[in-house]
Amino acid sequence: MVIRHIKYKILSVVGISVAIVILGIAYYNAVHEERSILEQNERTVHKLTESVIQALQSVMLAGYADIAQAYADRLKKVKDVADFRILRVDGTEAFRDNATIHSVNRRRGEELFVPREAEERIQVLLPGDANLARVLVSNGAGLISYYETDASGRRFLTFLDAIPNLNVCHKCHGSSHPLRGIVKLTTGLDSVENEILKTRQQTTLAAALAIMVIVLLTGYMMGRSVVSPIERVTDAMAKAAGGDLDHKVPVVSGDELGQMANSFNVMTSELKKTYTGLKLEQDKLTTIIQSAGEGIVVTDAAGAVVLVNPAAERLLGKSAEVICRQGFLNLLDDPKAMRSWLSEQGEGPPSSYLYNHRILDVSAATIRAADGHTVGSAALLRDVTEQRRLEEELRRQSVTDALTGVYNRRHLDEVLLAEHARARRYSLSLSVLMLDVDHFKRFNDQHGHDTGDRVLKAIATTLKGALRNHDIACRYGGEEFMAILPNTTQSGGYAVAERLRKDIEELAVEGLKVTASIGVGTFPHVGQDSPEALIQAADGALYQAKNSGRNRVRVAEA
Ligand code: GH3
Ligand code: MG
Ligand code: MG
Repeated sequence: MVIRHIKYKILSVVGISVAIVILGIAYYNAVHEERSILEQNERTVHKLTESVIQALQSVMLAGYADIAQAYADRLKKVKDVADFRILRVDGTEAFRDNATIHSVNRRRGEELFVPREAEERIQVLLPGDANLARVLVSNGAGLISYYETDASGRRFLTFLDAIPNLNVCHKCHGSSHPLRGIVKLTTGLDSVENEILKTRQQTTLAAALAIMVIVLLTGYMMGRSVVSPIERVTDAMAKAAGGDLDHKVPVVSGDELGQMANSFNVMTSELKKTYTGLKLEQDKLTTIIQSAGEGIVVTDAAGAVVLVNPAAERLLGKSAEVICRQGFLNLLDDPKAMRSWLSEQGEGPPSSYLYNHRILDVSAATIRAADGHTVGSAALLRDVTEQRRLEEELRRQSVTDALTGVYNRRHLDEVLLAEHARARRYSLSLSVLMLDVDHFKRFNDQHGHDTGDRVLKAIATTLKGALRNHDIACRYGGEEFMAILPNTTQSGGYAVAERLRKDIEELAVEGLKVTASIGVGTFPHVGQDSPEALIQAADGALYQAKNSGRNRVRVAEA
């Protein structure tokens, strides 16, 4: 059986200890008491026996043996006297046969005593009896006593006393033996044992009462001073474990239990302070997460999704319930990509991912505690669609001529460098057209700068229309344009230039017309060394076109 309550544990320990001590004392007392009762009884019976024997001897010495026998028989009837006999030294009972009468009559030479009619020989103590031997050896020095138990278990105390063969006896009994006989007195121990039993019962009762009182008293005292304070703290601990940190334990003493209650109160108030602080921080964090523009999805250590903020639902176009059901790896319906982001552990720039018609920057990482064990995973989703559009716009603007919408000089330089290298590496043709509007200064002067601008725009549109998709149209500066025609031979370049020249010639802007001169340079005929050399060649051809009357195309020759 397991004792669960400290109250009963203390009570059982105290009860058992007290019971052992009290029962030990009671047992010791009972044994002691029993022994002294027996000793007292022995002393009393000893004295009684001595006086009885003295009286008996006086009677016998006076020669009244019959009276002695009658005395002996009467004594047997006294309460607690179980047996009283006068024995001969051989252990047979005297006064039962005529042996002594005959020997006395013979010694005296007269019929002094009348023989009995009925004789009987009663062997009370066997000749070899140890107690008989002891009393014979004692030679009248004093009583010997011994305890006996009969077949039914009753106990008896027996005294044996030797009757000395005095001078006065010699006349009748002779002087051959130093002893005349033995007096045997046996008392029953029933009343003594009753007294002992009574003592035992009283001792047991007293011990039981003492145990009960001590245990009850201890229980009461323990209950008040130890168990109740412990139970109050235990109760408060259970409440604290259930989240109730407001419960206080009354401090009723200055002992260890009082200190425990006080420490508990301090602990709960500290815990409450910490808890309130944490709760506040958590509320703040929750507000931040819930109102964040970035999508946040968090899992627990087992990988189950435990947090999805509204931004994540909006960006992914899925409800939190669906996200939780589909699982963290299927956040973007691409477990492979998610695994790879997780393996990068959020290091390096976030990966852009096209999902739900948006460009999302995705960072994912496994969250680990200070001791290294996994707490969960988290993904951060940022909508960069607009940012990317703006970046693209900026990039486009940085390479585009603001007035005409074709590429600017910077872009031209980059593209030409790359195309020149490619043409050289793969032995491809590369043609560049250098176009300059004829007498544009004059045109501006005649029609105004704004009109000139609109003409330049129209020429740019015409230029783009004359080129293939992978050709590049640029504004080289002022009213000069350039076209890069990858993989285009000299004759091809010339053909494009000629068609362009015609298109411009036919172009009418607000009813006004302009012409343009075009120089063509084709790698590898010219400009083998560098992109600049190719431009110079085309520029040289343009110069020739101008010089030879304008509104014409000239091809640079090596
Ligand atoms: P040519 O036939 O020799 O080329 O004669 P031209 O007048 O075109 O001579 P030049 O190339 O020296 O002059 C360029 C003129 O182009 C100068 C300027 O008035 C005009 N121009 C340059 N850039 C712009 C521009 O952005 N808008 C307008 N409207 N005019 C420009
Ligand atoms: Mg010019
Ligand atoms: Mg010009």
